[in-house]
Amino acid sequence: MNLNRCCRCGCFFVSDNSVCPNCAQKDQYEMNHLKNFLEENPNSININDLANSTGISSKNLNRFLAQKQFSDFNTQIKQL
Ligand SMILES: [Zn+2]
Repeated sequence: MNLNRCCRCGCFFVSDNSVCPNCAQKDQYEMNHLKNFLEENPNSININDLANSTGISSKNLNRFLAQKQFSDFNTQIKQL
């Protein structure tokens, strides 16, 4: 077990995740929201527009999109 710093709120916690248990719930909610949005809007979109449309910060979007479960959607993301 390592002492990690949460990517979202900056607090320290003991786990192998990149976010603390409090934020893990928010992450899960936002990832579901992002996945639904990308499925319903198959047109390519850039990170800024995606952040505006979903209400998810670009920092979190980049973190989510780097995950394996979003690899299918990466072709949909337009580079700025
Ligand atoms: Zn946190």
